[in-house]
Amino acid sequence: MKEFILIKNGEIALKGLNRGVFEDALVKNIKRRLSPILKANVTKSQSTIMIEPLEENPDMDSAVEAVKRIFGIAGFSRAAACEKDMDVMREVAVSYLADTFREVKTFKVEARRSDKNFPLTSPELARELGGEILSNFPHLRVDVHNPDLVVNVEVREKYTFIHGNQIKGAGGMPVGTSGRATIMISGGIDSPVAAWTMAKRGLVLDAVHFASPPYTSQRAEQKVHELLGKVSKYSGAINLMVVPFTEIQEHIKDDCPEDLFTIIMRRMMMRIAVELAKRQGSGAIITGESLAQVASQTLLALGCTDAVATIPVFRPLIGMDKLEIIDISRKIDTFDISIQPYEDCCTVFTPKHPRLRPTVDEVIDAEKALDVDGLVEEAVNNVKIMVIDNSLDV
Ligand code: ATP
Ligand code: MG
Repeated sequence: MKEFILIKNGEIALKGLNRGVFEDALVKNIKRRLSPILKANVTKSQSTIMIEPLEENPDMDSAVEAVKRIFGIAGFSRAAACEKDMDVMREVAVSYLADTFREVKTFKVEARRSDKNFPLTSPELARELGGEILSNFPHLRVDVHNPDLVVNVEVREKYTFIHGNQIKGAGGMPVGTSGRATIMISGGIDSPVAAWTMAKRGLVLDAVHFASPPYTSQRAEQKVHELLGKVSKYSGAINLMVVPFTEIQEHIKDDCPEDLFTIIMRRMMMRIAVELAKRQGSGAIITGESLAQVASQTLLALGCTDAVATIPVFRPLIGMDKLEIIDISRKIDTFDISIQPYEDCCTVFTPKHPRLRPTVDEVIDAEKALDVDGLVEEAVNNVKIMVIDNSLDV
């Protein structure tokens, strides 16, 4: 028996005139992600995207795992594709979902036919197959209101599809349909979650990481590679730019008031990230900041950082609690990497008493001791760029 994957594409269905563009992007992303797993036809047909394997023993389990990580898919089903013949359909309805039938108590059959030449109407078909299922699994009851299992039967042009409850997809919008943005990535818990959250809205990601050797180690940078590797399983390839930051931090430490060190450092990071983003054609900065989490994330401190940003700054975690963020980091498998204890550049030279209520004016005044433009230019010219992409790993 042949198996398909049938995809119902959630939010895209609401996109009106642009729908075609979004669906084409999604089909392209699906083809790419499945390419190392199986040969398949991926086609659109009436608000459903159908994946038809073209090989004898396709690895459907790996295909399902890959589909679960593609943004733009609200839910999908693994479906038996059989001949449009009642005897065959009876047999497949019973055998294909046999394991599931054993696990549940109630079910209903929902039948649809887009092939109006099929001799039975949808209600007749549902009754016929429901009866067949009941006689094979006598422990089952039909419950039309709140069944444990919905057996879907779709009589389409070429095949009848039979499938059980939907598998939840990753949701969101297809990557590539919202443009490009640059995540400021540390080795912590928050920034990979922020990256994933915005990729989910259809953004292609670039990443900037500030490294402060010898205060931060090669191992700390490796951790960032691993975190982005996990994110790229959802977002696709990420260009990572590693910025040497030690010298800038030393200048700030030597020449600026200690209690403004953190805020000035964050403004330098933001300036450099914006400059790199512009060079890459990226339209926004993403950070993992969450209001009031630490001294640099008070309202006034965030205002001081934003004051140097000349493109939008997205902070998708701004209203989230740490526990909510951790939930997502576990789901996307970054948590265990994030909690490995390697120093971040932000923990180098941290003042004992950072200012919680810095004003933009006093920060600008303190920055006069620095050659801001020169330092930004030097940092930008010394970045190391690499591509991180685990999205085709099986
Ligand atoms: P995270 O868990 O993401 O490290 P955090 O709570 O430790 O966040 P901070 O260290 O204050 O918070 O950093 C806030 C944000 O600044 C991070 O989420 C990230 O977007 C950015 N950031 C911090 N350190 C770096 C770095 N070394 N390189 C690039 N961006 C950084
Ligand atoms: Mg951090």
